[in-house]
Amino acid sequence: LMQIYRPLNFIGFVYRELRQGLTDIEEMFKLLDQDPEITDKPGATPLAVSGPVIRFEDVTFHYDPDRPILKGVSFEVPAGKTVAIVGPTGAGKSTISRLLFRFYDVTGGRITIDGQDLRDVTQESLRSAIGMVPQDTVLFNDTIGYNIEYGRPGASEDEIREAARMAQVGGFIEALPRGYDTPVGERGLKLSGGEKQRVAIARTILKSPSILILDEATSALDTKTERDIQQALDEVSRNRTTVVIAHRLSTVVNADEILVLRDGQVAERGNHFQLLAADGLYAQMWNRQREASEAAELLARTQEDP
Ligand code: ATP
Repeated sequence: LMQIYRPLNFIGFVYRELRQGLTDIEEMFKLLDQDPEITDKPGATPLAVSGPVIRFEDVTFHYDPDRPILKGVSFEVPAGKTVAIVGPTGAGKSTISRLLFRFYDVTGGRITIDGQDLRDVTQESLRSAIGMVPQDTVLFNDTIGYNIEYGRPGASEDEIREAARMAQVGGFIEALPRGYDTPVGERGLKLSGGEKQRVAIARTILKSPSILILDEATSALDTKTERDIQQALDEVSRNRTTVVIAHRLSTVVNADEILVLRDGQVAERGNHFQLLAADGLYAQMWNRQREASEAAELLARTQEDP
């Protein structure tokens, strides 16, 4: 029997390795949805991070030459501060985060981090300085613990637990019968969008990057989940230079500066109160969202207490 069992066991091992390899490759391709022409230039040096201060200087960009997406965007994110980008769908918000990660090169102007043009530094050093929390996190078909540890392979169990706790997902994991050893992903436990995003935040807390890009999910969240995620985001963005593609009022209100992007240009900028006082596009968007969330809360209350 052992003669049959051993090869089968071996095949199982190869299968698991292969499967893991495949998910990693899938993840990589998703992540590296980038222009194949993006390579390190000869003599590229590692990014030297001190602040870090991010600057977009008159940035223009198109995916197709006949359709400009960004038309001269300038802004600065001072060290440790948070800039929120809001605006209608298709305005170019996510494009800004892709350019900052250098999935694509700008077609005009430049982007710098601490004065260094992104095109002059090695991609590896750039990407290790940036933590990206995407809208939709792809989890590996592995344990939830592994999915968090991926932020810094080799992290200790205590560090993983601490990151999960800070990301407001520790209690949820510890309540699972198999805790951190619970398999997740397609063949394991299915997590909700909000839970997945908190796992991604825990992973990023473990990675501890000096620059953070957050792409908030647009999906509706209940009040408690929204509060938990906000707490997790506050934790991860503290003292980090942060760019957030914001959809939630709570994130926008707390940002140091808000850019309202419309049709590839910065239409308005300022903090929440300045923009409300300006009574323009932002004030309109804010009032609309507030009405929608008040209506949702009222509906939830009537359902609880008919
Ligand atoms: P949303 O709020 O809906 O996520 P957004 O402001 O983040 O929108 P982007 O994702 O930056 O918008 O897209 C800006 C424009 O660029 C859109 O019109 C989109 O169709 C186009 N675009 C995005 N990615 C590509 C691509 N890889 N190739 C060609 N066009 C693209």
